[in-house]
Amino acid sequence: MSQIPKSEQEWKKKLTPEQYHVLREKDTEPAFTGKYYKSKEKGNYVCAGCGAELFSSETKFDSGTGWPSFDKPINTENIELRKDFSHGMMRTEVVCRKCHGHLGHVFDDGPTETGRRFCINSCALGFRKK
Ligand code: FE
Repeated sequence: MSQIPKSEQEWKKKLTPEQYHVLREKDTEPAFTGKYYKSKEKGNYVCAGCGAELFSSETKFDSGTGWPSFDKPINTENIELRKDFSHGMMRTEVVCRKCHGHLGHVFDDGPTETGRRFCINSCALGFRKK
């Protein structure tokens, strides 16, 4: 497990500029540009900031939004949900519990039995193949 940076300076060194903007500044990568939205590979998606296991490919679905979408996390303990009132919207932000990196948002319009759609930035994720 990689060491979690303690300062923003260290985060900048560890992450790419795009990852830094998303994970540390709550930016959103442009739709249909990330490396995982189309992926159907089997494995686990981990936090790009700290390596925590976040989502399984088994819960991934094609939402048509251009971002990787999941109907539930591997373990609810690994994520934190926060109310987000930015950009004139009321949304629920998804944050990595371990490193507090911004991952994306969760919505209640999911197509599966969980009814949830975790809409996650590709660049906030890493992938461990099964
Ligand atoms: Fe993390």
